[in-house]
Amino acid sequence: MSFPAAVRLTVDLDALAWNFAVLRQAAGAAEVAPVVKADGYGLGAGPVARRLWREGARSFFVARLDEGEALRAALGPERPADITVLDGLTPGCADRLAAARLAPALMSLAQAHRAADLGAASGRPLSVGLHVDTGMNRQGLDPAEAAALAASPQHLRHLDVNLVMSHLGGAAVPDDPRNARQLEAFRAVRALFPQARASFAASAGVFLGEAYRFDQVRPGVSLYGGGPQERPDPRLRAVATLEAPLLDVRRVAAGETIGYGPSARAERDMMLGIVAAGYADGIIRAAAGRGYAWAGGSRRRLVIVTMNMIGIDAGDGGLAAGDAVELLGANVAVDDLATAAGSVAHECLTRLSAVGDRRYLGGE
Ligand SMILES: *Cc1c(COP(=O)(O)O)cnc(C)c1O
Repeated sequence: MSFPAAVRLTVDLDALAWNFAVLRQAAGAAEVAPVVKADGYGLGAGPVARRLWREGARSFFVARLDEGEALRAALGPERPADITVLDGLTPGCADRLAAARLAPALMSLAQAHRAADLGAASGRPLSVGLHVDTGMNRQGLDPAEAAALAASPQHLRHLDVNLVMSHLGGAAVPDDPRNARQLEAFRAVRALFPQARASFAASAGVFLGEAYRFDQVRPGVSLYGGGPQERPDPRLRAVATLEAPLLDVRRVAAGETIGYGPSARAERDMMLGIVAAGYADGIIRAAAGRGYAWAGGSRRRLVIVTMNMIGIDAGDGGLAAGDAVELLGANVAVDDLATAAGSVAHECLTRLSAVGDRRYLGGE
């Protein structure tokens, strides 16, 4: 292993392709449409999407309009993917959506009416997705609004609704009663738009069973090697590896307090490894005391996480300045880090956008 000079992110595009294949297998007949919002969960939407296109992905989801524009440019004219913007038809953005050939996933009745007005003004039905809120209470028309829209020819005439979608709030926990309720609500809504394709499951939903998969699934975090939350699938591989070198290994006497504040103490005489990385590089501070890193072939407890330095329990020694420490990767599961930090794998990954020194393995 070569020692990184400083904190460095490695993105393994072969592992990404592997995870895409795992999800395709899990998704059965449903299309797998990768979610590459937040710059591909911090790993780089361009390289991620270009590789997934090579693996056969043809539909992508982003959150923001500017993400969609950047993705369209990154894919280029030779990869004419379907790109859907989850923010939908935000005010004043119709021209930019059209220029980049981005489909809005309409997320409110107001957006649906605005889309119909635009379609009417242009003389051509506007191509849209329709996000229906089946119980997450975050985005989408409620089922009654969707039904009213479906029964309103003066609006529908100006819309080409080719995707009906909804999002699960409790899919991380398979027996969350909300899952079945949302499923029932979604079945009713999709029946209102029989010509549209139906998309319901994100990563966790793919693993809830066939009933949840419909025509298209929208995994994000699982493609990048996380989750589904609380029950990671062992077939998924780590895509992101974050490494940094040890700056120093120092002795701390029993009873001494380590770092800022009183919380970290040496319970015995110990060796503390000081890693050249910190929360400025995306490792969540709250992981201190509970999370672990990987160095010298074993797990090392994170003792402190400060802005630019992390202290790890170096055990009986054997570690030296210059040694590489893995903070995230094949030996430090993103879900474990997330649990230690009281967070989710999604947040741990998106924080890696802070790391500028990155390399891509495996080819786009
Ligand atoms: C973020 C998001 C996804 C992907 O979720 P993961 O848990 O990362 O798989 C899918 N659909 C919608 C609407 C989202 O906001």
